[in-house]
Amino acid sequence: EATTDEGERESYVVATDNAYVPFEFLDEETGELVGFDIDLMTAIADEAGFDIEFEAMEFDGIVAGIGSGRFDIGIAGMTITEERKENIDFSQPYYEAGLIVAVQADNDEINSVDDLDGKTVATRTGSTSETYIRENTGGTPEAFPQITEAYQNVIQGRADAVIYDIPNVQYYASTEGGGQLKTIGEPLTGEEYGIAFPKGSELRDIADEALTTLMEDGTYADLYEKWFGE
Ligand code: GLN
Repeated sequence: EATTDEGERESYVVATDNAYVPFEFLDEETGELVGFDIDLMTAIADEAGFDIEFEAMEFDGIVAGIGSGRFDIGIAGMTITEERKENIDFSQPYYEAGLIVAVQADNDEINSVDDLDGKTVATRTGSTSETYIRENTGGTPEAFPQITEAYQNVIQGRADAVIYDIPNVQYYASTEGGGQLKTIGEPLTGEEYGIAFPKGSELRDIADEALTTLMEDGTYADLYEKWFGE
């Protein structure tokens, strides 16, 4: 257990995204930060015996803030990439995602990623999708600080398509964006989410061990069912 000399529990600042359904977002009624990542990180801290305090921000600031050591931990549906690994350490993977194309529900012109050449493709600043669009589609990325803005731009016809993480697109399309967006084609990538730590942080192994326990004792499965179950 993580304790100080006085026997008090250590407390760590966890940077998280302020709007990434259903991993972390503000509950409309209570204004509280909720989601799969929030529950998982809380369970990890409980298991490992330390306290946490979430600080919610735009995604782009998290990778930088962990890299500079401003935050102790980051959980934000963050994809483990070689590029990010140069500046931060990751836990073991805790969620399998991937990128997908979505367009206006009544769009019959764009039927696959190959139709994006020369098109405007909305996404979120600093995301793996922004890199993907630039490197693989021939389309022009238009990046917004919040992914909801990207979805809205597609719905309102100001952008041709959006590329983003499957669980986020699906959750948005079945809630707020109901009936207005549709995904097309197969997943473009396979991506694994990891919890982020400043390079060399000893917290990584402690959190990883707790995560393994939660995967083995059914806690992870319960949380998965709660947020992604039918
Ligand atoms: N998985 C994506 C990435 O890491 C998006 C994460 C997010 O928007 N919170 O770039």
